[in-house]
Amino acid sequence: MANCKKCGAVLSFNEVGLYKKLIDMEPKEFLCKSCLAEYFNCSTDLLDKKIGHFIYLGCTLFENNCD
Ligand SMILES: [Zn+2]
Repeated sequence: MANCKKCGAVLSFNEVGLYKKLIDMEPKEFLCKSCLAEYFNCSTDLLDKKIGHFIYLGCTLFENNCD
């Protein structure tokens, strides 16, 4: 599993998927959800909603579990 390039947190499957979806489909480095929220200047709640939406759409970059 990947680590956040900023804070070093271990990324969940869905955080990796979110980074790919929003930033780069073939990333060499990743940001965790809280660092992504900072990057976009939005709340982690909004990112959770986006993850939920991608799961709803059936996107294979995400899995429906509690992470
Ligand atoms: Zn981070």
